[in-house]
Amino acid sequence: MQEITLDQVDTSNYDVIIAGGGAGGLLTALALTAEGKRVLVLEKAERLGGVWHSYWVDGYRVDQGLHVITRVTRGAFVRFLKTYLSPPPEFVLHEGWQFRVHDKVGTIPSSVGETLRWPLTGWKGRLELVRIGAKIKTMKLEEMQKYKDISFLEFMKSKGATNQVILDVMQSAIYMAAGVPITQASAYEALRTLKDTDKESSKLGSVKRLLLGSGEYDFDEGYVIGGMEELVQRVVTAINGDYVLNAPVEKIHEEKNQVTSFTVSGRKYNHSCIISNIPLWSMNSIVDTSTPNNQVFFEKCCKQIPTRAITLWLGLNKVVIGNRKNSVIVHPNPNRWVVSISSFDPSCAPEGKELVAIAMIALPAKSVEEQVQIMKSNGFERYYPDVLKHIEMEHVQTSYATRAALIPGQTDLDRPGPRTPIKGLYIVGTDTAGSGVGLQQAAQSADGVVQALREDV
Ligand SMILES: Cc1cc2nc3c(=O)[nH]c(=O)nc-3n(C[C@H](O)[C@H](O)[C@H](O)COP(=O)(O)OP(=O)(O)OC[C@H]3O[C@@H](n4cnc5c(N)ncnc54)[C@H](O)[C@@H]3O)c2cc1C
Repeated sequence: MQEITLDQVDTSNYDVIIAGGGAGGLLTALALTAEGKRVLVLEKAERLGGVWHSYWVDGYRVDQGLHVITRVTRGAFVRFLKTYLSPPPEFVLHEGWQFRVHDKVGTIPSSVGETLRWPLTGWKGRLELVRIGAKIKTMKLEEMQKYKDISFLEFMKSKGATNQVILDVMQSAIYMAAGVPITQASAYEALRTLKDTDKESSKLGSVKRLLLGSGEYDFDEGYVIGGMEELVQRVVTAINGDYVLNAPVEKIHEEKNQVTSFTVSGRKYNHSCIISNIPLWSMNSIVDTSTPNNQVFFEKCCKQIPTRAITLWLGLNKVVIGNRKNSVIVHPNPNRWVVSISSFDPSCAPEGKELVAIAMIALPAKSVEEQVQIMKSNGFERYYPDVLKHIEMEHVQTSYATRAALIPGQTDLDRPGPRTPIKGLYIVGTDTAGSGVGLQQAAQSADGVVQALREDV
């Protein structure tokens, strides 16, 4: 794609207009390129990528929030990159999760045998985990769907969960995926995350893996060599079309239920196919329609609640943590994760130094400074005190991590999908469709919109 100015825009040169150049919009454009289409991306900000982004701070390359790419060997996001980028990007696999409860460290057990040796609880807790773990691991997707309108805590309690350590470990794992505590997370989405349903297989297969262990690291996560920005730039280069920066789409117009035009910086342009990557919460004020059915659709969409995250990046003058694990600090508040990004990709830190991230879901009642202090004292001071002695760069980010938290009423079963009631107007992004989290969700929504376009031709 080439950057152009609004003065140069001639919409008859493009098959599709994409409003918003975040992950959903760019991945859609990439797939459309492979179908021979030419796109125009209109981006409100001064760069492409949305929250999919990285930049340099004092010699360290930090990502906008991103800590791990989920499902790096078989997920929709990686499938996009492997299908459309040549050579495909290189991923470094994550070596697993560590859950720290008081002074004990455990992983997520992947078999009955491992559960019976789990160091984080006593015998009673282990037996409880075996019983509930077996239930979750053998559950089919259709059964999970029955729990979409209750919270994960309600589900756990209904299955007889009483052990606080188990609930706190679940809380930590689900917080990251759903963006809310287990009192609010949809049980269906939490179960999908824990079961990792992309790998849906026969009940017998699940039982076998449960008893014998999977023999492989089950969570299939990693990081990309070169960081997120390089990936964004490779995607942008591979797309056939043009983009305009600092170009907020102010209105999308329809006539007789067919999209006809859009307004950017006070100028109106005609086009009959628009894909919007604009967060659904603002579409209500952007779509210019007086049809009651359409109004109801966009009003409903704008009620989506996002997840908010806060990340503290620390550049260390020596390697202190040095592993490729995601450490989850469960005690005393189960919502913090530590990852040493430079252990995956050393190019993000100066030689011999380390780039570490600690992240948590934002606590609305506290200031950013207070939350940074919580991460330092309840995260590093207790478990990695050496980190605090070697800081030479400190950088804080706050952002929405996903545009729709995985709560009852906005699970992937409730999201609107790629189509709107207006012909020719489609929606894409993490709040529109798709299971999983973050980039997987964005990629799945892009899959959905490309499929819808094919069907509607
Ligand atoms: C702190 C944090 C941690 C994360 N951790 C992970 C992780 O570990 N793993 C993972 O896979 N993902 C993670 N993510 C999530 C992932 O980065 C995002 O979910 C994903 O990139 C969002 O994509 P989206 O398509 O929904 O678009 P967005 O990023 O929301 O993009 C929307 C785009 O539309 C533009 N726009 C908005 N309004 C207009 C308008 N009127 N006109 C034109 N353009 C407009 C915006 O500027 C933006 O560029 C994390 C994100 C954050 C912030």
